[in-house]
Amino acid sequence: MAETWQQQLIGRWRRLRGELDAAGVKMLAVSKYAPEQAVQTLIDAGESRFAESRAQSLRDRAGRWPGCEWHMIGPMQRNKAKYIACHAAMWHSCEDLAMAGRVAELRAGKALPVLIQVNLAALPQQHGVMPENVAGLAEGISRLDGLRLVGLMGMAPRLDAAGEEGVRAAFGRLRGLRDDIFGGSLGELCMGMSGDYRIAIEEGATMVRLGTLLFGSTPETDTRTDYA
Ligand SMILES: *Cc1c(COP(=O)(O)O)cnc(C)c1O
Repeated sequence: MAETWQQQLIGRWRRLRGELDAAGVKMLAVSKYAPEQAVQTLIDAGESRFAESRAQSLRDRAGRWPGCEWHMIGPMQRNKAKYIACHAAMWHSCEDLAMAGRVAELRAGKALPVLIQVNLAALPQQHGVMPENVAGLAEGISRLDGLRLVGLMGMAPRLDAAGEEGVRAAFGRLRGLRDDIFGGSLGELCMGMSGDYRIAIEEGATMVRLGTLLFGSTPETDTRTDYA
């Protein structure tokens, strides 16, 4: 009998978790394009660490599955800061002090772990802080009670454009910044996605963010009909 989509998903999850567990690297299951049934399938299989790129989806899914960690990895609008303050396990995409202050102010109880997103390619159209401004933002965050800076997050340029050496160099730069700010290798290094996670691990990632490789294709290109 042909495998169901659930069996295929669990198979991919087991292989990836096996590889990452062996490397001592945490996996974030990026569920932004995944339907609820796929999330539920992974939870039933034993996964509990997910990431969303929209504050509203994070709030909704954290409400539905409060036993899981929900990591925020996307850009944020000011009026959605409360969703992150209340529902995120970790905020990976902090890129300015005003928003950091807003989230900190709305945070009740334990400080929220936060990572600064760095614009590794230094392209104005990309998200993140320019490398030369990371230390200043880190300083500002350290003065906020509701947040606890735990590391850096970044995206490499596309593998097909920059080549493996370009991607490796970008990840190496992020590791260098992390070492400067946190002293040695303390501090999380969240880097690597479906297309480049193995390079990221070789360059010292402590967490990788996997969407497509884990869940399969996005809805736009999805040919499966049995999700409904
Ligand atoms: C969507 C997304 C990912 C996952 O990308 P894949 O290539 O599908 O693994 C990782 N990080 C961020 C910030 C994302 O928005």
